Amino acid sequence: MLDTTRKVATPEGIELTLRLAGPAPRAMAWALDLAIRAGIVLAVSSVALQFGRAGWGLVLLALFFVEWLLPAWFETNWNGQTPGKRAFGIAVLNDDGTPVRWPGALTRNLLRAVDFLPVLYGIGLVTMLCNRDFKRLGDLAAGTVVVYQAEKPSQRVFPEAAPVAPPFPLSLEEQRAVLELAERYPKISSTPLFLQFAAGKRDYPCTPWGNPTFTPNGWKGPCYLIGDKYYGTWKEFFGDVDWAYWESRRDPRCHNCKMHSGFEPSVVRKLGESLSDVVTMARWQLKTVRSPRQRPAA
Ligand code: SF4
Repeated sequence: MLDTTRKVATPEGIELTLRLAGPAPRAMAWALDLAIRAGIVLAVSSVALQFGRAGWGLVLLALFFVEWLLPAWFETNWNGQTPGKRAFGIAVLNDDGTPVRWPGALTRNLLRAVDFLPVLYGIGLVTMLCNRDFKRLGDLAAGTVVVYQAEKPSQRVFPEAAPVAPPFPLSLEEQRAVLELAERYPKISSTPLFLQFAAGKRDYPCTPWGNPTFTPNGWKGPCYLIGDKYYGTWKEFFGDVDWAYWESRRDPRCHNCKMHSGFEPSVVRKLGESLSDVVTMARWQLKTVRSPRQRPAA
């Protein structure tokens, strides 16, 4: 049986499974995009041709723009999708699962001219069938793949819940163990104030927006751990997530969380509230500057 999945590992060490899109959905997406592009050129022509030769110039400019630049613009700014790809639930990604950018999008779109030869993407089709990732020449040159978009989880209804203390508070020995571990292995440690939080010696609200996570499905909301909803744009993500709710840690899934990505930013947010915290952080900074080899990994 043909295996149409591809596994990629993100820089965070998370393995993602991408489902490769074959020639059929890509051909349908291309046909829809072609109809849209033709519609735009026809609309421009119906107005521009009334201006004689200058109008022809406008038509040629519009033709160049919609044929070569518009698909690349969509793929760069619309999560790797043109309107046709969106309609058929497929998207372009870089080989490593990251979003495609201008150089990759332009390369794969400009090479459509070669893939199209001798007629109706003959070379592109043969090339796609000769490699297990269904890449046409443009994809091979740009280092991109076309995949099915993963289904996005629907937004959940937030449960009403009051904050509760973790059911297993750390004993004094356990708190010491966390701090001693950090002292012995400074490369895996974080700021001293975060470590005090991790050891249960102080509390913080969460700051999930301080370290947001972007995935092949879009911005993961609300945080690195919880993917209740994925957003296509930063604007949608930042405007839609109920940050006050997640900062308060009322959600049951937050009660025992000590996640670095949520609470290290809280250290910075809350730093100005205590002079002794400022001194602690300044001493830590000076110590790590003096011993750069022991500086915690970024
Ligand atoms: S407390 Fe943890 S799970 Fe809850 S929003 Fe913050 S980082 Fe995410």
